[in-house]
Amino acid sequence: MQLPQFEYIRPKSLAEGLAALAEHGDKIAIMSGGSDLLLNMKFRLEGPAYLLSLNGLSELQQLEKLDDGSLRVGAACTLTHLAEHTIIKECYPALRAAIFVVGSRHVRNMGTIGGNICLETRCWYTNQSKIWRDTREGCFKTDAEQCHVIKSAPKCHALNSTDSGPILMALDASVVLASHTGERIVPMREFYQNDGVEHTVLKPGEVLTAVVLPPAKGRSVFRKLSQREGLDFATGTFAAAVIGSNEQPESVSLVLGSVAPEPRVMPQAEKILLEGGLTDEAIDAAADVARRALLEVTNLFTPTFYKKRLIKVLVKDALLELRDQRVRG
Ligand SMILES: Cc1cc2nc3c(=O)[nH]c(=O)nc-3n(C[C@H](O)[C@H](O)[C@H](O)COP(=O)(O)OP(=O)(O)OC[C@H]3O[C@@H](n4cnc5c(N)ncnc54)[C@H](O)[C@@H]3O)c2cc1C
Repeated sequence: MQLPQFEYIRPKSLAEGLAALAEHGDKIAIMSGGSDLLLNMKFRLEGPAYLLSLNGLSELQQLEKLDDGSLRVGAACTLTHLAEHTIIKECYPALRAAIFVVGSRHVRNMGTIGGNICLETRCWYTNQSKIWRDTREGCFKTDAEQCHVIKSAPKCHALNSTDSGPILMALDASVVLASHTGERIVPMREFYQNDGVEHTVLKPGEVLTAVVLPPAKGRSVFRKLSQREGLDFATGTFAAAVIGSNEQPESVSLVLGSVAPEPRVMPQAEKILLEGGLTDEAIDAAADVARRALLEVTNLFTPTFYKKRLIKVLVKDALLELRDQRVRG
């Protein structure tokens, strides 16, 4: 499959890139590693007239410890660089675990954290060649007002499969979004939207320039289930972060990934653990809530009953692992 024609823009600075974005409006796409975007272009799911590459921008490739102990990670850092970085290994092991299961070594060498966070949603009916798609009517993602997954749905139900998104949400990270008019900071928990087409709050002309992780505190865990061990998108992911003891946690953050157009926070399950502590009963109840929460979501690759059972086991196993971790301040 060949790429469509486009003009390649390689800015010398972020400011130059932001100016290009402002000038070309909806005709321009942002490319970091290109490991997902270029495939979508080959599939004719995207056909931008201009492609803005963030590849050469060293200002987006830095890791910086901030005065308050937070870590600012440039959006163009590759996943391999991050997975091998000492600070990530020692202070944010669950984030490392999430990054380390993205695709394969080759994908991680090209793929960036910014691209992974902004990853397009995926759908069984849409992420296909144009010839395949032409055998049926279009959908919200292409050129029609319908969803093939849920026929009556008023919006797109493609899945958000980012592996880093759920754990960044659980760790209470934020992202820095820049445009030619300035910067804004958005908590990761508010970055995604429950719509397969408009799946993030990024506005036209904005670039995600960095992700900011709060000082490492407490314990966290990330689990991914997929059909194959490597080179596969998840059937389900689960990320959890707990501050405080098992008996009296001060905060609990639980996020399910790859089950909906956005990673799903589970407030009801969080409340159960906050009030009950990480006991066998509370963990069982939290896992059950996660299973029941899937009633309203769809799964495109496996039957729903299978996915529900799978999510319950995934959540329970991960929480038991978290309970056994050494308590950190
Ligand atoms: C074989 C294969 C297996 C894969 N397996 C996985 C997997 O298991 N888990 C997983 O999460 N992903 C997987 N991917 C998808 C993808 O490769 C990774 O998510 C990767 O991290 C994307 O990063 P990138 O820099 O290449 O993004 P790109 O392809 O450059 O961009 C992805 C999207 O994000 C946008 N974007 C990129 N950077 C920015 C930015 N800084 N600001 C705003 N928008 C931006 C682009 O416009 C595009 O829409 C896989 C891909 C392949 C080909």
